Amino acid sequence: MNIILLGPPGAGKGTQAKILEEKHGLKQLSTGDMLRAAIAAGTDVGKKAKAIMDRGDLVSDDVIIGIVSERMDKPDITAGVTFDGFPRTPAQAEALDKMLAGRKQKLDAVIEMKVDDEALVERISGRYTCAKCGQGYHEKFAPAKTPGVCDVCGGTEFTRRPDDNEKTVRDRLQVYNKQTAPLVAYYAAKGNLHVIDGMADITRVTGAIGSVLEKVKG
Ligand code: ADP
Ligand code: ADP
Ligand code: ZN
Repeated sequence: MNIILLGPPGAGKGTQAKILEEKHGLKQLSTGDMLRAAIAAGTDVGKKAKAIMDRGDLVSDDVIIGIVSERMDKPDITAGVTFDGFPRTPAQAEALDKMLAGRKQKLDAVIEMKVDDEALVERISGRYTCAKCGQGYHEKFAPAKTPGVCDVCGGTEFTRRPDDNEKTVRDRLQVYNKQTAPLVAYYAAKGNLHVIDGMADITRVTGAIGSVLEKVKG
């Protein structure tokens, strides 16, 4: 099963994609995480992407389509994929259609997570991540059980993303509305769009996604 979590920055895509990976074995394919790994590794892709990401713009379609296509050919992609942060433009959506068709696979559901702008800014301003295992947290909504210690791996170092500041978040929301929101109509026309309330708490959102997966399983 292949699904897309579609939603603005801070909607909860990464949080839910990690839960889906544990619960259903769907691999999280986060283009944002892949780009941050490329930056950390100092690759050509990373060098190109860094400044663009810091100002909240989108990395070019060619670069993104290239890294996703490469990832889709790795042998660990078996039970399916949760696309998190991809596609973000109509050109990426069309490329994904072709990628899946070429691999005799299909898209089972596109789940749009709706969250108000002010809530997004609050979520992103409080977001932090375990430096060791990548587990995501929020100062107010999803803090580590023991302050300063990762629930998952016991790590004690945490990071914040350079683009998670209020100014860049507002720019990223504008970019989303302009370049990514048109995908809602694209997938609605194909008949696989499912809209859920992303304002609910994390457990409820997981439940809503689970219901969509049950429905599309048939
Ligand atoms: P995205 O991947 O869509 O950018 P994240 O999954 O990283 O979003 O979530 C953004 C922040 O909001 C994180 O700090 C996360 O812990 C928190 N968060 C995620 N889902 C919810 C929710 N349903 N309610 C409150 N906070 C949430
Ligand atoms: P969030 O979900 O919080 O917006 P991501 O981690 O998905 O953050 O993306 C962070 C940044 O990486 C984006 O602002 C953009 O610069 C770049 N990026 C990630 N995915 C894509 C994509 N599919 N197309 C273009 N740029 C991307
Ligand atoms: Zn950890």
